[in-house]
Amino acid sequence: MHEWSIADSIVATLLQLVERGGISQPIKRVVIQVGKLVQIEKDILLFALRELSKNTPLERTEFVLKEEDTVFRCNNCGYTWSWDDVVKELEREIQDKDLRKAYLESMHMVPSMIYAFNKCPRCGSTDFEIIKGFDLSIEKIETQ
Ligand SMILES: [Zn+2]
Repeated sequence: MHEWSIADSIVATLLQLVERGGISQPIKRVVIQVGKLVQIEKDILLFALRELSKNTPLERTEFVLKEEDTVFRCNNCGYTWSWDDVVKELEREIQDKDLRKAYLESMHMVPSMIYAFNKCPRCGSTDFEIIKGFDLSIEKIETQ
């Protein structure tokens, strides 16, 4: 569901660019960068992009997804850690598989949920920022 609304906004953005003459057609390839925090189901997103592109100038466009690691930095001690560390910590702290899934699902829908429980693995501070891989962006548009 989440994937479909993301795909919808990507296609809408690209079509707007085409309409305004911002990019020349045809668009051969679009590279989309996805932060791990977004937890996209890649197959669903790609399928949605293809479906939504049908009968539009993007019909023959190839969509490529590039996953980017999410990196956090502690504002207290300067330590940096990644999304994988967060998941590992979660696996250690929450034994219940369903509960863990619910946590991850909540972040999937609302990435800012990460602030609700993530903390610096070194000093325990909850004052941290996301320095990389927070969202999803169109990295490159290739035309012929
Ligand atoms: Zn710290």
